[in-house]
Amino acid sequence: MSREQLAVQRARRSFQTGRTRPLDFRIQQLRRLQSFIKERQRNIKDALQTDLGKSERASELYEILVVEAELHLSITRLAEWAAPRPVEKNLFTLLDEVYVKPEPLGVVLIIGPWNYPWSLTLLPLVGAIAAGNAAILKPSEISSNSSKVIEEFLPLYLDQDLYQVVEGGVPEAQELLKQRFDHIFYTGSTAVGKLVMEAAARHLTPVTLELGGKSPCYIDKNCDVGIACRRITWAKLINCGQTCIAPDFILCEPSVLNRVVEEIKKCIKEFYADSTKTSDDYGRIINQRQFKRIMGLMEGCTIAFGGDADEAQGYIGPTVLKNVTGESKVMQEEIFGPLLPIITVNSVDEAIHFINEREKPLVLYVFSNDNKLIKKVIAETSSGALVANDCVVHFLDSALPFGGVGHSGMGRYRGRHTFDQLSNLRSCMIKQLRMEGLNSMRYPPHTAKKLSWARRFVLSRLNVQRLRNMVMFAMLASLAAFVVQVPALKRIS
Ligand code: NAD
Repeated sequence: MSREQLAVQRARRSFQTGRTRPLDFRIQQLRRLQSFIKERQRNIKDALQTDLGKSERASELYEILVVEAELHLSITRLAEWAAPRPVEKNLFTLLDEVYVKPEPLGVVLIIGPWNYPWSLTLLPLVGAIAAGNAAILKPSEISSNSSKVIEEFLPLYLDQDLYQVVEGGVPEAQELLKQRFDHIFYTGSTAVGKLVMEAAARHLTPVTLELGGKSPCYIDKNCDVGIACRRITWAKLINCGQTCIAPDFILCEPSVLNRVVEEIKKCIKEFYADSTKTSDDYGRIINQRQFKRIMGLMEGCTIAFGGDADEAQGYIGPTVLKNVTGESKVMQEEIFGPLLPIITVNSVDEAIHFINEREKPLVLYVFSNDNKLIKKVIAETSSGALVANDCVVHFLDSALPFGGVGHSGMGRYRGRHTFDQLSNLRSCMIKQLRMEGLNSMRYPPHTAKKLSWARRFVLSRLNVQRLRNMVMFAMLASLAAFVVQVPALKRIS
């Protein structure tokens, strides 16, 4: 039996003991995860520095804080999320108990990416624990230092049978994918996402695929270009552009092109004190393979500024590209690096057309002072998310379900959405063995009269809540009428 097979078997057996059902147990495990993050912060930050050149503060801001917030939210709201959810009643269910009860799915496989090796591996784990599942974690082998720290220290904090870490690369991931899981939560590229889904289909396992793609950013000429470029530059250069929701390319009218370039240049100076190469806040490209791929994407474009690089250090400076068309090499794949191509369009309609000709993006950004224009873009395009007048920040709002559509992914998560995604939302209907006469219309022999009753019942499904509201309204109206009439009656008498 392979290591992966044994891990899944062990997790499943432990899950079957029912240990994860009580909410107290889940909260205890979530608190232990909190301790892990607090006590091992040094190891986490060192690993991120080595893997991606992330500074301590960037690691805290973009990797740790978001997991801490998710843990806090899950611990405080778990009882509410896990409680039965009553559903609307109707004529059929008037006398019944009808509700949705979230229950654990079983064993969840979480496959993580290298660009945010902590937050994007631990956020699904928080949801898996909260929902009462066992979980197998497969961190990315590419961020190898982070992966080692996860494997070495996480088991010291969590239940070792229920939550296991399998370190390794593609062969280990493939071996894991041969096993039967109750859900697979994958974050990574679209190409591998297809393989994951194919493997999952063999066991009819549901999947959440958090994938990538090219997220467009439209800048309307009717907006504060300075502020827009500040927000775009910040978002683009977090983690050296290796962010799935980074703005991939800019669309704008020719009249604002030069201003956009100048404003971005200004922001880079402001953020990185004249030198991204020596700034602690500017990261590095994960490995040589990615370095070569990103450098190759500049082919055929005009460098408006930037373009400097140092292969030995994995450094690529912020680079803005002009004279880019839909056919340019840089537009054929997700950039996932600090290159920002600008494509000129003559109107918002042309921008919308350009966006709609391509795969649906993970997120679509639009900068404008014109609310009508923003609503037009929302109405005429599709994407996992749309953010107007800012970038990336929607990921921080766990009230918003995060995920893609089409080639940018399927399934949603964050906060309660992860809990729901990794739960079986079981429909429960509890009837009484009474009032059997009401059921006669459904039993054979099926007569015309019974059918006519059934039709009336089915087609005039009365909304009980509405009925209740109507009764309540009638009572309030009578009370109001009475109160108004009392002084008048007194005057008469
Ligand atoms: P990747 O697909 O190469 O790797 C992700 C994981 O898949 C790793 O754990 C890896 O071991 C595993 N894997 C790789 N090849 C495999 C195979 N043949 N079979 C089974 N498993 C395999 O992705 P990546 O390079 O780590 O991440 C970059 C991509 O992820 C980008 O496209 C980015 O947009 C996307 N991404 C998306 C999100 C999101 O939330 N939507 C977040 C981060 C990254």
